[in-house]
Amino acid sequence: MNGLPKCPQCGSEFTYEDGTQYVCPECAHEWSKDASAAADEAKIVRDANGNVLADGDTVTVIKDLKVKGSSLVVKVGTKVKNIRLVEGDHDIDCKIDGVGAMQLKSAFVKKA
Ligand SMILES: [Zn+2]
Repeated sequence: MNGLPKCPQCGSEFTYEDGTQYVCPECAHEWSKDASAAADEAKIVRDANGNVLADGDTVTVIKDLKVKGSSLVVKVGTKVKNIRLVEGDHDIDCKIDGVGAMQLKSAFVKKA
């Protein structure tokens, strides 16, 4: 392991540095070091307490949340298992017992 990022295009671990760029010898993809650092940072999702969330985490809802398009409400204290982080305004994809698949905002949950 040399600490260099994998190629975002083909996943190769044989990346090498060339000036301000990373280069993949396998698919010839080149990308800027700055851009790859920024992309990594954008993906960090934090809960209401600032803890970093990851795929597969269990979280607790900290606020009654209306379910879009129905009269259901996800109550405070509801445990949500096996979350999946996604892009967008609602950045958690999950399945809640009795409600089904839905998306939550990370600001309204805390890590269990
Ligand atoms: Zn590659």
